Amino acid sequence: MRLRRPIFCGNWKLHRTIAESLELATAVKNAVGPTVHRNDIEVVLAPVFTALHPVAGRLFGSQVRLAAQDCFWESQGAFTGEVSAYLLADVGCRYVIVGHSERRQHFGEVDETVNRKAKAVIAAGMRPIVCIGETARERDDGMMFSRLAAQMMGGLLGFSEEMLAETVLAYEPIWAIGTGRVATPEQAQEAHGYIRQHLREHFGEVAERVRIQYGGSVKADNIAGLMVQPDIDGALVGGASLKAEEFLNIVRYQEVAGS
Ligand code: PEP
Repeated sequence: MRLRRPIFCGNWKLHRTIAESLELATAVKNAVGPTVHRNDIEVVLAPVFTALHPVAGRLFGSQVRLAAQDCFWESQGAFTGEVSAYLLADVGCRYVIVGHSERRQHFGEVDETVNRKAKAVIAAGMRPIVCIGETARERDDGMMFSRLAAQMMGGLLGFSEEMLAETVLAYEPIWAIGTGRVATPEQAQEAHGYIRQHLREHFGEVAERVRIQYGGSVKADNIAGLMVQPDIDGALVGGASLKAEEFLNIVRYQEVAGS
């Protein structure tokens, strides 16, 4: 029996129309039903904003959870183009991804804004999936640990133990996202072990309950090796979550590995 319930989140990024999203969500919902009935894993889907409402309707009554890929921290006001955490809760989201490296790279996301967003997500009654990770350069320069520590200190600034308990962390080495170059299970565990240790030092025992996902070119054929690591509690899956069968084979890694 695992201490932490594994969580698998499909990040669909900027892909899929409403019709395509519904098709994908339906396939996942239908297949996952019997698995999550055992209450042993949590499955989350993160479509584009425009598909959230219809997908929420499609997932209604199922155990598959809905996530958004980003949010704004203010609940309302003169902020043209933004979508607040408050409105994402209203549409039925349970999770919001914040601080994804693509947002940091292309949209000026920094630890301070990640922190504001994560707090807004919790205040709206949802759970943030806070993404952190180092570049290849930072890893090569021996700065991986300090980079992860800085992202955690900034992204989780002002968090209480209770807030941390609501938070999922996603370790996503930037050199592994969308590149086909997955971290080895040992590399991933080294980072996850460090992250948990850092959380323990700053927040205490609640760190044992925090789920830490791995993200970066996760596929059905590499998930089992990652999941046997003691501090890896699931995956944030990009490209491979766009095909129902591949994503389901990741979610059901135990059955696939045993077959
Ligand atoms: C991601 O989008 O968070 C991700 C890890 O992408 P991919 O699985 O495609 O590397």
